[in-house]
Amino acid sequence: MLLGSPSVNDDPFGTPIISSDMVSGLRKINPDIYSQEQHTWGLWYPGKARGITTLWVASSDGTSRKISAYNYGAIPEFTQIGPHGDIIAKGWRAIFEKVVRCKAASRKAIEKKFRVNLELGDPDTVYCGKCRISGQFVKSENASGLCYMHELTRKDVLRWQQRKAQMRERLRRII
Ligand SMILES: [Zn+2]
Repeated sequence: MLLGSPSVNDDPFGTPIISSDMVSGLRKINPDIYSQEQHTWGLWYPGKARGITTLWVASSDGTSRKISAYNYGAIPEFTQIGPHGDIIAKGWRAIFEKVVRCKAASRKAIEKKFRVNLELGDPDTVYCGKCRISGQFVKSENASGLCYMHELTRKDVLRWQQRKAQMRERLRRII
């Protein structure tokens, strides 16, 4: 099961954007944005074998700033999280949010270019952090700051860890 997709959302992958379209669209907004996607021959970088590349923005002083890593091919709308909390694929909502925070492109320009609505949320509301990783805004109703679904998962993990510790203790006594 992918934790990035709580059961309240019946379409966890969302509407994908092809990575080359994402890069060319962003470059039309700001030509200083680039990635190694178009010219990767012979150039090695970490994650290349897994299809991961990086979005950069060039500065006027000749240096570049990293915006975000992403997988080439179809980029899901929401970040896909594995069972151990590891990111399998970053979603375009999370990537665009980074582009905006890096000031490489404005939210308005991205929304217009890609015909999307980039919801950034209400600053006074506590949203579930795990849902936020996958680009979704789900209000937190727990002291842990998690949504109902993720709070259940967290308790399950805790219970399992306690049980494992008890088993280990019992085994230790037997030996
Ligand atoms: Zn959640």
